[in-house]
Formats: sequence, structure tokens, C-alpha cells
Amino acid sequence: MTHLVIDQLYKTFPAGPAHRGEATAVLRRINLTVHAGEFMVLVGPSGCGKSTLLRLLAGLETVTAGTLSVGGRRLNELPPKQRNIAMVFQSYALYPHLTVYDNLAFGLRRMRGPMAAAKPSPASGEKPGTQGNQDLGWALSHSTWWREALTMATRPFPKRLRYVSQAEALIDQRVRLVARMLQIEPLLNRHPRQLSGGQKQRVALGRAMARNPEVFLMDEPLSNLDAKLRVETRAQIVTLQRQLGITTLYVTHDQVEAMTMGDRIAVMHQGELQQVAPPLELYNHPANRFVAEFIGSPTMNFLPVQIKAPAGGWCTATSGCPYPVPGRSGCRAMTAARPFWAFVRNISVWGVPAPKNLPGQVQRLEALGSETYLTVTMDNQLLQARIAPDYPVQVGQEVWLAIAPEQVHLFDAQTEQAL
Ligand code: ATP
Repeated sequence: MTHLVIDQLYKTFPAGPAHRGEATAVLRRINLTVHAGEFMVLVGPSGCGKSTLLRLLAGLETVTAGTLSVGGRRLNELPPKQRNIAMVFQSYALYPHLTVYDNLAFGLRRMRGPMAAAKPSPASGEKPGTQGNQDLGWALSHSTWWREALTMATRPFPKRLRYVSQAEALIDQRVRLVARMLQIEPLLNRHPRQLSGGQKQRVALGRAMARNPEVFLMDEPLSNLDAKLRVETRAQIVTLQRQLGITTLYVTHDQVEAMTMGDRIAVMHQGELQQVAPPLELYNHPANRFVAEFIGSPTMNFLPVQIKAPAGGWCTATSGCPYPVPGRSGCRAMTAARPFWAFVRNISVWGVPAPKNLPGQVQRLEALGSETYLTVTMDNQLLQARIAPDYPVQVGQEVWLAIAPEQVHLFDAQTEQAL
């Protein structure tokens, strides 16, 4: 079911002096739909407009043209508070003078209205109302506590409560539930300056979760974490998102994050969407050269070819390079193949006769332990290959690069679209 709809979104910023008064278009007619409960990853190089898109959805920037809607509700004119969208920032954006508890409770207290300010938080000394804690205790000790707790967490927050203590008890219940889910309960009385980067990140995530929003927007929330914590936290975010079922738009420029987290990935370049597809479809069927280069590491090998007459079901191609390609004869194109499918041998492989392998010379070896990447020169071009870690090959050695013909992609040399 479609939930978040971005229709013909166009955004310009007023020009600086360098642009001679002309506004610069940062987003150019973006169309994107995200299904209810879907985890959509928005990926693209720095400056392509990812954060601007999130900020427009959150209401932190104004739309130049086009429409944004969630659940059929038009967002364009709504102030951020009324959008029911929570955003997690790369910088965490926690309130430094508030405890973790109060940071988590902040959005809920704002939803509750001006009475909130009158009541000090339980974390700052006063005993909270007990009803919420009893409910939470029951939910957490119940055999299906996780499901029950989630039901409670996703229950709509009452808009009008008669007593501050009643509201405070509900806030307390939700704050503690979220803290439990994110394993930050022991940190509730600390201030942000007393937390590690990973802990701050979890508090920022918890603050967004506690509000029980319709949509999560996450802007590179892992980029300040070290590699190990990043891997752990990305798994945690995916698990929580699945359990809560909240529609999520997650921005990153890290294609490993994109591949491992998203139900679908939207690839952006220079303010335009290039392709929207599930991770493996993007990897195996890139719509154009940009997507092919951006997704996958190490990157694909690209070779220019002029396709000649078909021979034996294949077109033979080009200038000194007996590279087998599918496609029409006559056109100029770029062939591309993933290093994964190119490996090194000094004899023919897979029964493919030697002339269909590419000759090259090893320039560099990068041993990662599980496999070794090779940089190989062929006709003054650098190609990527990989081998098993114990495969006996050395720098300077003459090798064959074997290409599985069915794994070769072809892009039009002019339009760069897949052929
Ligand atoms: P990164 O991955 O580096 O965060 P991004 O893809 O999120 O990049 P944006 O922050 O959306 O990119 O920026 C897109 C373009 O819009 C950039 O060229 C940026 O300089 C420009 N831009 C962003 N905000 C403004 C602004 N307030 N005024 C003028 N230009 C802006």
C-alpha cells in the first residue's frame, strides 16, 4: 500500500553570487512512492540532494514545486510539528542540557502541550505516576512481551488528558519501553556529553521512536560511528524498523548500507532519481552506467567497444580486445563486468577458449583475508579482479581475466543507458 508519495518534486535555492542571480535546481522532478512499512534507502554521492529531500519532507525547507503526501495527506503547507514525521540526524541533535530521559520524552511532552513544562521528569527526582509502569511491567513480563510492548508503543498517544500526572505516566511508560528496546535504560539519567557516539545515536533513534511517528526519516545516522559499531547498529535499526513497521526513508552515501538495509534502494545523482529497485535487482540489472558504477565494491570494469557483426550468438567487439558482448551490431557502447565474475588464471577457464579471456598484467594485490583483489593492466586500462586468498599469483605476472559472458552489461556510449 502506497504511504509516502513524492510527486514531481522540484527544489531550487536562491543563487549565490557565483551563479549570477540564477537559482540552482537541487532536486529536479523527483517521483518516488514508498509503501507502508517499507524501508527505502536513498543513496547517492555527496551533494546530489539526499538531505534536501529529507528536509523537505520534514518541513525544514519549503517546496519550490511538486507535492509531498503521507497516507493521502498533503504535507506541503503543514508545519513540521503537524506532519507526524520524525527525523534522525547524522549529528544526533540531542539537547545537551537535558538528560537522556528528558531527550526521549521531549517530543511526547510537546505533543501533550503546555502543561508539560509544569511537571519535572521522574529522572530529575520526582516519582512518576505508577499506572504506566505497572502496564509496562506487565507488558515486559508477559510471555509475548515484545508484541504486547509494541502494541502499547504504537497505541495512539491521547491528545487530551485531564491530569498532568496521567500524561506523565504514559510518557514515562513509553520512554522506558523505548529505552528497553534500545538497551539504553542504564543511561536514562545521563546527559549527552556523558555518552559515547553509539549511545548518542541510540538515544536519537529512541527519541524518534518514542513519538511513534507515521514516517521515519534518517539522515546518515551511522556515519559518525566506528566500523564495528556501524555494522551492529545497522542490523539493530533494520530489526527495529521491521518490528515497528514504520515507513522509513534512510539516507546514506554508503552503498554497503544501502545494499544491506533497504527493501528498495533509490539511487540519486545530481538531483535526479536514476533507478529505484530492490538491492539485488540494482546490482544485477543497473539501469545506466552511473548506477552500475555506484553500486558494488570494488566497482565494475568498463571497456569501450564498437560492436561488430554477431558471431556465434555473440557480437564480437572492438579494437584488439576480443571481448564477447551481447547486443546490437553497429553501436558504440561500454561493456561492464563485475570483478566478482572476473578471476585470474594462467590457463583458459570454464571451458572458455583462451582468446575470449582478457590478457593482463598484475599491478597490485590487496589481500583482505577472505579474498584478494587484483588491479590488472590491459591496454593501458586498469581492471579489477579477484581471486581466492591462497591463489598463487604475484605482482608483474601475466594473467588471463576470465569473463562469464552472461554477466557482461552493455551501456550505450552516448546516453549511458543499459542496452
Ligand atoms: P551529503 O551526502 O554530502 O550530505 P546530500 O546529497 O545530502 O550531500 P544536500 O545536502 O541535499 O546533498 O545538498 C544538495 C545541494 O544543495 C548541494 O549542492 C548543496 O550545496 C546545496 N544546498 C543545500 N542546502 C542549501 C541551502 N540552504 N542554500 C543553498 N544551497 C544549498
